[in-house]
Amino acid sequence: TKARIGVTGLAVMGANLARNLARHGHTVAVHNRSRYRTDALLKEYGHEGEFVACDTPEELVAALERPRRVLIMVKAGAPTDAVIEEFAPLLEPGDMLVDGGNAHFLDTRRREAALRERGIHFVGTGVSGGEEGALLGPSIMPGGSRESYEALGPLLEDIAAKVDGVPCCTHIGPDGAGHFVKMVHNGIEYADMQLIAEAYDLLRQALGMSPAEIADVFEEWNRGELSSYLIEITAEVLRQVDAATGRPLVDVIADRAEQKGTGRWTVQNALELGVPVSGIAEAVFARSVSGHTELRRAARDLPGPADAPQAPPAGDREGRAEFVEDVRRALYASKIIAYAQGFDQIRAGSAEYGWDVDPGALATIWRGGCIIRAVFLDRIREAYEQESPPVTLLTAPLFAEALGLAQEPWRRVVATAAGAGVPAPGFSTALAYYDSLRAGRLPAALVQGLRDFFGAHTYQRSDREGTFHTLWSGDRTEIEV
Ligand code: NDP
Repeated sequence: TKARIGVTGLAVMGANLARNLARHGHTVAVHNRSRYRTDALLKEYGHEGEFVACDTPEELVAALERPRRVLIMVKAGAPTDAVIEEFAPLLEPGDMLVDGGNAHFLDTRRREAALRERGIHFVGTGVSGGEEGALLGPSIMPGGSRESYEALGPLLEDIAAKVDGVPCCTHIGPDGAGHFVKMVHNGIEYADMQLIAEAYDLLRQALGMSPAEIADVFEEWNRGELSSYLIEITAEVLRQVDAATGRPLVDVIADRAEQKGTGRWTVQNALELGVPVSGIAEAVFARSVSGHTELRRAARDLPGPADAPQAPPAGDREGRAEFVEDVRRALYASKIIAYAQGFDQIRAGSAEYGWDVDPGALATIWRGGCIIRAVFLDRIREAYEQESPPVTLLTAPLFAEALGLAQEPWRRVVATAAGAGVPAPGFSTALAYYDSLRAGRLPAALVQGLRDFFGAHTYQRSDREGTFHTLWSGDRTEIEV
């Protein structure tokens, strides 16, 4: 019998997806540029299902049933193009090349257009959940044609995570839509992690709590509306003790956060689209700040507040519990902002590139398998399933209520952070966004006035139609232009 699907690229992600497919009873043809990975996979896990080991792309293609499905799981970038060029000439019209790597959605658009000319369906697919997700059930975000989803969807839904019996996989939209939403997913993940880190830092610095005590707090938070994978693993990381020194591991890890680039892509694209994703952007910048050793060393001796911390002292048990609760509310509110901004970007991208992405369906498949999986995503799904979906998630009844409850504590937390000299860029920018959207009038009016003064850039008036300019260097009367 022929294999249902082929996987090329058998590093951790490819090997685990191949095993996941085989464990679900699908015969999988497997191939890797260097043969040793194929051998290792068969030797260690060959007993888990039906694998067909292939030495060459030709062998892999020959092993597949029609229409052929080839899943590419190689290093993103030039290697993906190289592999496409190896396989495309071996395929026939109607066959499918699926790229599950972390490709930039513009590359996916380019590849899809080129392969469409040759009659081949190119399916750029976001896969989230890391190594473990790939094996046990990831969240899968396939782009590409509807037709390709008909042939591919059932297989992908089979191996995806399930929440309430619903697979965490759905057709996202044409060409680059899948990789686009995966990119924004990662941007949201950056923001989520930054907010968690700030919450930890405040409890640590303002209240002087130990990592183990903070782990207890996160464990408690994980039982409420914040319940999520990232909150859960935060407790685990904070509880970890370094074997070599006996200190909390978090205290011996170098405080320089790295990045592979998807957060940066998200912000770059948001700038192109003109969508304010300040929460995601601050998270990306916070990582860069952490990595700027030289800047940080140069600035180390700048003065801070005289008598930090500003939070309740050790004896004030009630005050401290209240502060912890304030931080929890600030975290939840800031998280709502970050997700609202991410979903705004998806809506803008969908309109710009003509994808028709369904945000409710997306929230549904992010409930499981992926890194940002959370109870919270069910609330987002509900918000988008309303008869008239909200313009922004902030005004969906459930979130509007949560923000209403959170806003006072949120302000106290940002004020405490500022007073204590603890950086909280994520919390602060989220609050500023909230207040900006709420504001009846913004000082953008003054910015327009300045632009008109130095550059005759003109302005509109709020009391009547038209475009105006003040003769700043003349008699300062206003003319209509
Ligand atoms: P890597 O990104 O480390 O890529 C290694 C694989 O790429 C190997 O199989 C390697 O073959 C192959 N490869 C590299 N260059 C070429 C080339 N020119 N021609 C053919 N094959 C090549 O593997 P991962 O498993 O970590 O990730 C695979 C993809 O999945 C990446 O695009 C990654 O961004 C994405 N991804 C990764 C996640 C993760 O958590 N790691 C999560 C989600 C997506 P060889 O053995 O011969 O060197």
